[in-house]
Amino acid sequence: MKVTEHIKYSNNKPSFSVEILPPLKGENIQDIFKALEPLMEIKPTFVDVTYHREEYEYKETKEGLWEKRIIRKRPGTVGICAALQNRFGVDAVPHVLCGGFTKEETENLLIDLHFLGIDNIVALRGDAVKSEIYFKPKKQGHRYANELVRQIDNQNQGIYLDNELLNTTKTNFCIGVAGYPEKHIESPNMDADIQFLKQKIDSGASYIITQLFYDNQKFYDFVEKCRAAGITTPIIPGIKPLSTKRQLNLIPYRFNVDIPIDLANDVIKAKTKEDVIEIGIEWMIEQSKDLYSKGFNLIHFYTMGKTDPICRLAKTIL
Ligand code: FAD
Repeated sequence: MKVTEHIKYSNNKPSFSVEILPPLKGENIQDIFKALEPLMEIKPTFVDVTYHREEYEYKETKEGLWEKRIIRKRPGTVGICAALQNRFGVDAVPHVLCGGFTKEETENLLIDLHFLGIDNIVALRGDAVKSEIYFKPKKQGHRYANELVRQIDNQNQGIYLDNELLNTTKTNFCIGVAGYPEKHIESPNMDADIQFLKQKIDSGASYIITQLFYDNQKFYDFVEKCRAAGITTPIIPGIKPLSTKRQLNLIPYRFNVDIPIDLANDVIKAKTKEDVIEIGIEWMIEQSKDLYSKGFNLIHFYTMGKTDPICRLAKTIL
């Protein structure tokens, strides 16, 4: 079922979705099943599965040559989505990137996803990999997410890259895109970022999932700006519990988001690792209560493989 249909038929009841990462270096799929089982009992609306490009490094050989080596590889997003749908009957939503794909490779990926019964896709540009200074599209690939959205939307209408393929497989994906309540780091300014977000919607996207944030007011301001810019699609807030002291510096650096002073001070004062985890979960629960109370009935949780905080939240709120 499409994410937009889930939202439409939810009767405004508080609900949640989660995001999981394919595990590094391909552990067994059973580990993913085991981690998700407690969550499935409280019925997430959908499960997003991220996509990650391979990371390379160049090592000098004894002969003084540069050798390209893979340093980070994750198993297939597509396979995990198919397995999750099969095992749990939950809608699995693959993330599809511009980076690392030609348009033709994207077309083939979409045909596979359609064949596997996937109804939703989150279309993203992707970040630069470590060997790049800034994001570079593959030759014959897309530079910005709105171009990828357009390709998916075209394919939904039976328009393929090669006219010969016309009417072979008409896909029917519901397309989600990323939004940034505190601005994407590369964007010239907030207004421009929202203008580009609108472009993604105009190209065929049906809903927005936001980057994580810790200050709900920034999310509410963002929603207001989106509405003022003519964006009428659902905007799903994305949140993640802070869980280590190190993240006080890592999260702002990695995601371009602020950590409110009250939360930062509590984490700084915490004496043990367990205290930090507890503070992070409590903050996330308060954020969620506030979001639900303001009518944001579907919240997306970045679980990073840890499902306990969401199960706890479910016991207190859902
Ligand atoms: P875009 O919408 O293409 O925007 C990229 C930048 O270009 C922005 O600064 C935007 O303002 C600017 N821009 C857009 N259009 C134009 C234009 N026409 N001219 C000039 N500038 C323009 N990364 C992964 O690798 N794998 C994942 O699975 C993944 N999942 C994510 C899920 C969510 C919900 C979010 C919020 C992010 C996710 N990311 C993921 C990270 C994402 O790939 C990065 O944030 C990436 O840098 C931007 O992706 P985008 O789709 O927002 O890009």
